[in-house]
Amino acid sequence: MKNSGISIIDPWGSTSVESYERLFEEFGIQSIGGLVEKLPNVPFFIRRGLIFGHRDFDKIVEAINKKQSFAVMSGIKPTGPLHVGAVLTLREIILFQKLGATAFYCIADIEAYEDNGIPLEESEKTALDNLVDALTLGLDPSRAYIYRQSKENDVKDLAFIFARSVTLSTMEAIYGARHIGLYMSALVQAGDILLPQLKRFGGPKPTVVPVGVDQDPHIRLCRDLANKFKEKMGFIPPSATYHVLIRGLDGSSKMSKRNPMSYFTLTEAVESVEHKLKNAFTGGRPTAKEQRVLGGEPEKCPIFDLYKFFFVEDDAKLMDIYWRCKKGEILCGEDKAFAVEAASSFIKEHQHRRKLFIDKARDLLGLS
Ligand code: SF4
Repeated sequence: MKNSGISIIDPWGSTSVESYERLFEEFGIQSIGGLVEKLPNVPFFIRRGLIFGHRDFDKIVEAINKKQSFAVMSGIKPTGPLHVGAVLTLREIILFQKLGATAFYCIADIEAYEDNGIPLEESEKTALDNLVDALTLGLDPSRAYIYRQSKENDVKDLAFIFARSVTLSTMEAIYGARHIGLYMSALVQAGDILLPQLKRFGGPKPTVVPVGVDQDPHIRLCRDLANKFKEKMGFIPPSATYHVLIRGLDGSSKMSKRNPMSYFTLTEAVESVEHKLKNAFTGGRPTAKEQRVLGGEPEKCPIFDLYKFFFVEDDAKLMDIYWRCKKGEILCGEDKAFAVEAASSFIKEHQHRRKLFIDKARDLLGLS
């Protein structure tokens, strides 16, 4: 989206990214490049370049390697069941937690109200379901601060403190013309991101926010505010890692809750997941004959994205699928059968295990 000739990434819209390189030039996001090798463990989703960019991630790498205190912070907006695209963010939070971070897991219910009109009392059940998923995937509650924005006075106080330092034209330059509620929710998010640095959590510390690149405006706003309040409150500008956006099953450039055929959720009926995958767009050719001759295009294929992001952790196996597709040795029908199998077993296992975490999640949210 363009505003007076300046590019704008819309964190509340359907941002698509044509060129990740342009983000480096235009917004100052840096390539994660050699920093990855300095991490003690490099899981498959980092090895494969799915985390492609960063801001100040070197501070986090240093904290990890020197075993210093640091935090990982992320928010889940409780607008509905967690879709598979959110798994990558949760895996990043869990990874940093395992590398020594205290996790700050924010239930972004104020943003869900401002952006999606969902009343706070209605988002509570969704927040519970989402938290059950996060715990099932491995979030360790003993090393996490889990809270709802609407009930966390410190983040709201910070938003009001920050509001005095931001003009309407700054918000318009970052986000475009939006209603005041969204601007307010952006300031609340800045409060979320800087919450780990308050005295009650041990004071200033490096904090990493793993996000999809569409959320960069919030990072830029927050880093700007951290710099403005550095002297008064001691904030260290937050670090961020950026992951690529997973394609929608319908072929759209980003999996989005706005189109149910573009995603599936972790609590969806297995039959429904299978139906969506069988009808998914692919990088295949119009006819089997053409595909045998020309090969498929896994780079454009949401089914291949599912393997790359989630279901095939073995690099050699992933490359085998890639090349068999490129050489026309497999057709989309047979490959989709494999994808259906992989997704179904993941979903079945997840849904079976999540029953173990319902009571814990209720406890954590004070709903017992
Ligand atoms: S064979 Fe598989 S990876 Fe290749 S285009 Fe078809 S569905 Fe995608």
